[in-house]
Amino acid sequence: MTNIDNVYLELKESLGDRKVSNKLSERLCFSRDVTPVAYKWIDLYDKPPYLSDIVVKPDTVGDIQKILKVGAKYKVSINTYGGGSGTVGGIIPANNGITIDMSKLDKILNLDKESLTVEAESGIIAQVLEDYLNKNNFTLRHFPQSFRSASLGGLIATKSIGQFSTKYGGIENYVVGLEVVLPDGKILKTSDIPRSSTGPGINNFFIGSEGIYGIITKGILKIYHIPECIRFQCYLFNDIYSGMDAIKEVMQSGAVPPVVRLYNKKESELKFSGIGFDYKGCLLILGFEGIKELVDAECKISNKICLKKRGKDIGSELGEKWYENRFDTKHIMEKEEEFGGISDAIEVAASWSKIKNLHNKIETYFNERKITLASHLSHAYINGISLYNIFYSEEKDEEQAIKVFYNIWNDVMKITIDNGGTISHHHGIGMIKIGMLKKELGEGYNLLKGIKKNLDPNYILNPGKLIDKGVHE
Ligand SMILES: Cc1cc2nc3c(=O)[nH]c(=O)nc-3n(C[C@H](O)[C@H](O)[C@H](O)COP(=O)(O)OP(=O)(O)OC[C@H]3O[C@@H](n4cnc5c(N)ncnc54)[C@H](O)[C@@H]3O)c2cc1C
Repeated sequence: MTNIDNVYLELKESLGDRKVSNKLSERLCFSRDVTPVAYKWIDLYDKPPYLSDIVVKPDTVGDIQKILKVGAKYKVSINTYGGGSGTVGGIIPANNGITIDMSKLDKILNLDKESLTVEAESGIIAQVLEDYLNKNNFTLRHFPQSFRSASLGGLIATKSIGQFSTKYGGIENYVVGLEVVLPDGKILKTSDIPRSSTGPGINNFFIGSEGIYGIITKGILKIYHIPECIRFQCYLFNDIYSGMDAIKEVMQSGAVPPVVRLYNKKESELKFSGIGFDYKGCLLILGFEGIKELVDAECKISNKICLKKRGKDIGSELGEKWYENRFDTKHIMEKEEEFGGISDAIEVAASWSKIKNLHNKIETYFNERKITLASHLSHAYINGISLYNIFYSEEKDEEQAIKVFYNIWNDVMKITIDNGGTISHHHGIGMIKIGMLKKELGEGYNLLKGIKKNLDPNYILNPGKLIDKGVHE
């Protein structure tokens, strides 16, 4: 019997037949996320290059401890699958092994109406949590576009961000407490304390850790009252840079619009021409919400700034339409499905003093290669903003499409680091960006590695993600 046969038998013995599977259909389902190259592998190969050997569906924290025990005994890799909506190959089993499907750990455990927090198991899908909160007159306000498929654990493990982030921040601003099963099976818990100065903050080791330091089993998150009103304002700018100036001034004025989205000419046209955008220029959508008096004041302040920066007020309708369709993802994989087609979104960020130069460098890169670039700036901060670059390319065949895909990623990441930006604002690193992380983090990369070595010396948990050690060693 091979090592993996023994693992399979021992897992069945320990967890019961029902929770453990080695059926090819299950293994295929849980071995890929939404990374564009994973689609190409389906066409190109009989079996994808990375395939889990065993899929396990625990429904208790005790089950997870048992899986880790078997993994440690046979030194077999363990990968954690949340909702599978990741775009950077975070759940791809680089070393094969076991994949844990977290979907059965999906219970809501506590709603603290006084402190405004909710506690839930990490396999719950964000939309399900929001539906529950809405029934109780509360809301999450963490709205990534993948809201209907991403799990709480995945949102925390990738350090995700939502479309209303400019007011509420990323997931790191929501998480107050966590429960994590560490690689040795011990359980780590943090509680619902609003802030604490007991060291750097234990939660921070796991937010954005991409499953390499432990398996997140529970989260306690801040929640909000449903806002009294939501209002949109849209402006047209002749060029992207005047739009950026307007956003910077709004952000630094003290007004806090949750939604800030400035589209380049191409994306304004591609995304909005079918729903009433018949202008030439860059569309800016600002969304405000909360108590009416506050919204009135913020709208007034922002309107004055946008007009001063030569924005043309084009009403609220396009913003309202965007809001209605904000979770629509049906067009997203169209290019990957075409023979030789490839596209992806490279989400970077930089400070206000660097973003124009970075935008210019990235745009020039795509223009010189005649590759279509639709981009927007969103998730604004007082000190900078993120830039979301969507590229579309048509190549002669699938192999060439994969080659071009990696070349573009590596070139754009290099441009970003060389010009003072970050290679990931919110999708994480996964397998796609791993080669450049060291370049961005410098000595910080060794810190990540040191923590891993200490917590998981055999590199059992999610090898090949965030840090490059542990794959086929
Ligand atoms: C159409 C589309 C739109 C998107 N929009 C956004 C957006 O607006 N904002 C944004 O931030 N992202 C967005 N994403 C990316 C993706 O949805 C997020 O990264 C999301 O957080 C992934 O959650 P998931 O549950 O699907 O994680 P998965 O894809 O299952 O896993 C992602 C990573 O998290 C790890 N992980 C999952 N669960 C756990 C756990 N319980 N414990 C430890 N590690 C775990 C996995 O091992 C993997 O490394 C989008 C993706 C798509 C396809």
